[in-house]
Amino acid sequence: MKKILIGTHNKGKFKEISYLISKKFKKISPISLRIPSPKETGKTFSSNSKLKANFFSKFVDYAVISDDSGLCIKTLNNIPGIYSARLAKKKGSFYKAMKFILKKLEGKKNRSATFVCSLSIKFPKKKLVTVQGKLNGIISKKILGNRGFGYDPIFIPSGYKITFGQMTYYKKIKLDHRFLAFKKLKNKIKIL
Ligand code: IMP
Repeated sequence: MKKILIGTHNKGKFKEISYLISKKFKKISPISLRIPSPKETGKTFSSNSKLKANFFSKFVDYAVISDDSGLCIKTLNNIPGIYSARLAKKKGSFYKAMKFILKKLEGKKNRSATFVCSLSIKFPKKKLVTVQGKLNGIISKKILGNRGFGYDPIFIPSGYKITFGQMTYYKKIKLDHRFLAFKKLKNKIKIL
């Protein structure tokens, strides 16, 4: 069976990406191989996803897929953006980071936000391929729902009235920024 390393230590992302990739691939986690995370020194989602795929591909001789993703809030100059995971770390939890965002948005009319995902894939001896998926929505007034991970409980995708945190898991993962990026990738790399 062909193997693919899903280059992330985030369990929520690992589960989503595993679900998207064909059953023909055995999905491997860097955690099970004791591979550390690289430093995210890039200034864009795309540079960070490329950096991760290149980093993880040094450890294995099969395909590697990595994502860099985050939530961009328009009226807050697109923060937390590439710093989405780091904001939660700095605040102590995702709950506290979401509270921080809701406070920042108090009294603001524009609550538009975009979830962005850059996906990079690297096959041995092949050029790296990168794609991007974006999903627009708004930030809810409260933390709602306990499904999903990260900022799911404050993001309401366009066309819906509930947050990702309130949505069933399979509905969310067939709608989100990672799914949109993956669709583009699958158009380029059919075996996925
Ligand atoms: P990084 O790509 O490892 O830097 O982490 C991205 C961070 O963005 C995650 O830790 C989450 O906080 C957030 N994020 C990315 N995708 C999602 C999602 O689908 N739902 C909720 N939060 C997400």
